[in-house]
Order: sequence, then structure tokens, then C-alpha cells
Amino acid sequence: MVGMVGIGTEVVQAEDLVRVYGAGDTAVQALRGVGVQMEAGQLTAVMGPSGSGKSTLMHILAGLDRPTSGSVQIGGTEITTLGDDALTKLRRRHIGFIFQFFNLLPMLTARDNILLPLTIAGEKPDPGYFEGLVERVGLADRLTHRPAELSGGQQQRVAIARALVSRPTVVFADEPTGNLDSRTSAEILALMRSSVEEYGQTLVMVTHDAKAAAMADRILYLADGEIVKETGRSSQHEILQIIDTLDLQ
Ligand code: ADP
Ligand code: MG
Repeated sequence: MVGMVGIGTEVVQAEDLVRVYGAGDTAVQALRGVGVQMEAGQLTAVMGPSGSGKSTLMHILAGLDRPTSGSVQIGGTEITTLGDDALTKLRRRHIGFIFQFFNLLPMLTARDNILLPLTIAGEKPDPGYFEGLVERVGLADRLTHRPAELSGGQQQRVAIARALVSRPTVVFADEPTGNLDSRTSAEILALMRSSVEEYGQTLVMVTHDAKAAAMADRILYLADGEIVKETGRSSQHEILQIIDTLDLQ
């Protein structure tokens, strides 16, 4: 059972993750035995060159893809062996995902996009929490707009609110600022950090940006399908040095 989790509890636990795409001569080993743990209330950044397996890892941890072998537990529940229905239910309740390209539904208003995870689950938002969240992401006066009527930054704010609305056990974000200008990126990052501070949200974020990674409590460095280094809170300068030393450009 996934239950209440406190600080210091491991909400994500993965072991020996291997993901092979394709077969035979053209097979690609995207993950070569990755083990990771994420604690409740922590922001973890994942860095690594393009093609190193970051998205594959996020998708597998979030139950959007299955590993070739290995184990993933979310709040103590093994998800790699769950049937599709049970996995969908667990994801709905316990996992939020923020994509680089927002993935909003174009015909729904901002409000309905944010509420979608609850609507699908047949649940109503707690009004106080919903209003606070909308206020927090700065969308109070944009709720009736459709995605096409919003800027990139506003669309990503909608996506963040959608990921947070069901108060999931863990939120995964795959390059959430990869498609935004630097000023908007800074705002979105501050928002993600504040979800950790104010809601105790557990958050795992892929980023190429050392400045973004410097906001994390912990940084994992991925290269060629393996975790090659792990550090605690680090300055932008320290992160750039590690990337340089390990040749992770
Ligand atoms: P990253 O997010 O770090 O850029 P990915 O996880 O997307 O890396 O990809 C890791 C490796 O797996 C790359 O070599 C990529 O080409 C390959 N890969 C990713 N998705 C697929 C797929 N659906 N089919 C075949 N190969 C894939
Ligand atoms: Mg990627």
C-alpha cells in the first residue's frame, strides 16, 4: 500500500533497471543497470548528455514505460509487474508528469486541463487547495483560456498545476524548461522549488541547465545508460566542473 509518507522516507526505489530498445544488431541499451532512490520532500535533478537515457529513466520510474528488467517501487508498491489497469490507477493517484512540450489538451480551458487528472478519477478538487495552487502558479486570471491563447510559460504553469493537483506522491519532470526562454525558465524553476518547500512535494527533474540543477537537493549524473556520479546540493560552478571533468557535455 502507498500511504502517508514523511521526510526521510524513500518514495521511489529502483534497482538494476535495464531498458533495451529493439533487438538484434540494431538493439540499443538505453539503461544498463540503474539503481536510484528518492526521498519524500526532496528535489532530485538528473543531468547527462543527450541520449544518455534520462527520458527513458523518467518514463520507467513514472510507469509510462516498462523496463526490460529490473524493479521500480513507488511508495513501496512494485509497479513493473502491475497489470495495465492497476498501473493506470496507481499512476493517477501517485504520479505526476511534466513534459517538455506541455502536452495540454487544446480544446480544454486551463481550468479543465488542470483538473483533468481529478475529472478522470471522478474526484472533485478541494476548493481551498485548488485556489491556492492556481494562485501559486499565477493563473488565476487565465483559467478560461485555451492553451493556444496562452504563452509557453503559462502553458507550462498549467502543466505544473495539472501535475500537482492530485497531490501525487512524486512528480517527474522531463526538461520542463527545455522549451522556454531563460526568464520564463527561472520563474518555472522557482515554482517547482516552491512546490517542494510549500507542499513537501517530491520532485525529480531532468535538466541540462546547471543553474536549475543548483536548486536541487541532490543531483544524479547519467552517461550512456548508467549513473556515473551522485552529489548533494551543489553550486552552479561545482556542477559545471563535474560535467567538464566527466566529459558529460
Ligand atoms: P535522453 O533523454 O538522455 O536524451 P533517451 O532516454 O531519450 O535519452 O534515449 C536513450 C537512448 O535510447 C538513445 O540512444 C535513444 O536513441 C534510444 N531510444 C530512446 N527511445 C527509443 C525508442 N523508442 N526506440 C529506439 N531507441 C530509442
Ligand atoms: Mg530526453
